[in-house]
Amino acid sequence: MPRGFAVWSLAHHREETTVHDHRKLGRELGLFDSDPLIGAGLPYWLPDGAVLRHTLEEYIRGVERQAGYRHVYSPVLGKRELYEISGHWSHYSEDMFPPMDLGGEQVVLRPSLCPHHALIYRSRAHSYRELPLRIAELGGMYRAELSGVLGGLTRVRAIQLNDAHIFCTLDQAVDEARAALELIRLAYRALGIRPARYRLSLPGEGGKYVAAPEMWQRAGALLTEVLDRSGLAYESVAGEAAFYGPKIDVQVADSAGRESTLSTVQIDFHQPERFDLHYIGPDSARHRVVMVHRSILGSMERAVAHLIEQHGGAFPAWLAPTQLVVLPISEAELPQAAELVRRCGAAGLRAELSGPELGSLGARVRAARLVPYQAVIGAREAAADQVALRLRDGRRLPARPAAEVLARVGALVDAHRAELWDTDDTDDAA
Ligand SMILES: [Zn+2]
Repeated sequence: MPRGFAVWSLAHHREETTVHDHRKLGRELGLFDSDPLIGAGLPYWLPDGAVLRHTLEEYIRGVERQAGYRHVYSPVLGKRELYEISGHWSHYSEDMFPPMDLGGEQVVLRPSLCPHHALIYRSRAHSYRELPLRIAELGGMYRAELSGVLGGLTRVRAIQLNDAHIFCTLDQAVDEARAALELIRLAYRALGIRPARYRLSLPGEGGKYVAAPEMWQRAGALLTEVLDRSGLAYESVAGEAAFYGPKIDVQVADSAGRESTLSTVQIDFHQPERFDLHYIGPDSARHRVVMVHRSILGSMERAVAHLIEQHGGAFPAWLAPTQLVVLPISEAELPQAAELVRRCGAAGLRAELSGPELGSLGARVRAARLVPYQAVIGAREAAADQVALRLRDGRRLPARPAAEVLARVGALVDAHRAELWDTDDTDDAA
């Protein structure tokens, strides 16, 4: 394959086992890597990994736009005072990078996006008619993880978070949190992710949590209502809350069965107090706003790590770095094959050519076994502008006009479908 970054061609990738380690597979597939000179917990994304991440980010932005979110950008730095107000400085400083001195000020790499979004909300007056106001950002944040626990994409120091904050009235909070859970369900279906369990994360012992018993109780009761009304089975676990409030965590399991949190939904009364966030009600008086924090996919790093392990590199077609590989049987069909790759590109599909110089057809099919669609072109197909499609799962479809194949693959990809082909039209016997 003409890709310098996938050092191990897929042909060399060992036969599939049931357990996939994303660190090993991610390097073999040329998705990401790291360098001691950049540092531990600071992986970089190679071209195929960048395609995967970019596609995931565009998908999530589209889902959010359709659900009424407005996207913003905010800086990854902020003054120390900002985090003193948010409470991070007193409750979360162990996980933060040390501040940088800059002309008499202290500047901090942000440990979360929440304070920035609170300030964005506060920058304008808001009427109750504008609520719920949903502000989303795929933004960077930083965590000072110890180097001993770092590795791959699951424990990193630089994090790209799929974050959003919904500013709403108390009456709207439960519906907004439920809608966020519904978006999580939708995204998991498109990505082929199964939650291991839903967890209601409550505070535990110790001084890590802000002291406001009434606030904890109110937020916990609302989240319980969210889970009950959504009909989801869940477990309550003490000691897993954020420092400022309880949360619903959607847990996923890695290849070794270890659980981690991918998605979260929180109802927060603390930050609106700290930042004095309000709206003007129908009575023309100021009312305290409620903040719903939610992340559909968590960090891009952890989401991609999970997807690599879940699918063993065989990603849903819409997400695959290479969606279609074109396989001319002999050199005679090379021009038609190259033309098909060009037409795929024009149609927005990611296609590559795998010509006879790379080996027998069987060897090339095996090398491309993680690619969702393999388009074989022999003399007959080349003469008739047709394509005989093989699917990654082993199904073979009869030759069809190339334009029809591209249109149907394009439609499945655009719809973020998990299936490789329309089920009513498989021609297995052909
Ligand atoms: Zn937040």
